[in-house]
Amino acid sequence: MRIIESVSGMQSAADEFRASGRKIGLVPTMGYLHEGHLELMRTAAEQTDVVVTSIFVNPTQFGPGEDLERYPRDFDGDVRKAGGVGVGVIFAPTAEEMYPSGFQTRVRVERVTRHLCGLSRPVHFEGVTTVVCKLFHCVKPDVAVFGEKDFQQLVVIERMVTDLNMDIRIVGVPVQREPDGLAMSSRNAYLSPDERRSALSLFKSLELAKRLYKDGERSARMIRTAVLELISSHPFTSVDYVELCDSGSLESVEFLEGKTLLALAVNVGRTRLIDNCTLGS
Ligand code: AMP
Repeated sequence: MRIIESVSGMQSAADEFRASGRKIGLVPTMGYLHEGHLELMRTAAEQTDVVVTSIFVNPTQFGPGEDLERYPRDFDGDVRKAGGVGVGVIFAPTAEEMYPSGFQTRVRVERVTRHLCGLSRPVHFEGVTTVVCKLFHCVKPDVAVFGEKDFQQLVVIERMVTDLNMDIRIVGVPVQREPDGLAMSSRNAYLSPDERRSALSLFKSLELAKRLYKDGERSARMIRTAVLELISSHPFTSVDYVELCDSGSLESVEFLEGKTLLALAVNVGRTRLIDNCTLGS
């Protein structure tokens, strides 16, 4: 396992891998790794010859008042966990290395960022696409793996890769969950035991929506109302959004036809959690 902190060191290593004919798989993360991240790494290992995981808490994707300062970190634990699933390189640059003084370029994807998390976190996706674009230039991957937990992020990255002719295959991995259904997230570490119980309302509401859909319900308003009611019946919850939208364009739908994304963002105490599922195919 190599740990690389400089952009030039990462680029030289990537050149070496490519020169020896090895395919590179990249898994971008913000660290504090859990089983969800590890599943992305296993997927990358199955499809490529050398897996690079980046660990970088990217300041440009956090808005004012968000949790940049208190974001959980455990670098030694991350190195151990990543080593256990066959990661060959950890790329862990500092913020100064990624954004040296004079930095003034941004990558912006237009329409698909205007929905869901893009509304409540206005600078978020521009920060994500800028850093992911930079990581692609540092790591030079053939394949990059992202989680469907951040469904909108995956759609935005796919759009960027297509629009900017990036020669990188994007792979999505289904949401990994705790045994009781809570979507794994580094932010779950913020939850008190009481909040942790209320956080399960996100998963429960997705299950409820699936049941309603299976029983023939096709009105987005009816499903949305049922989801809102279930979540609101749990203490400490405050809904940011519950949306039913087209899984490609992320435009809201009134009636469910084809593959529809049900996406949730809920504050549980001070912790903002997201989750989603698709209904139909
Ligand atoms: P993060 O460290 O939260 O920025 O996440 C890094 C990558 O892991 C992103 O592509 C996330 O979508 C993915 N990820 C995080 N949690 C999960 C999960 N529970 N299931 C699947 N992928 C996940």
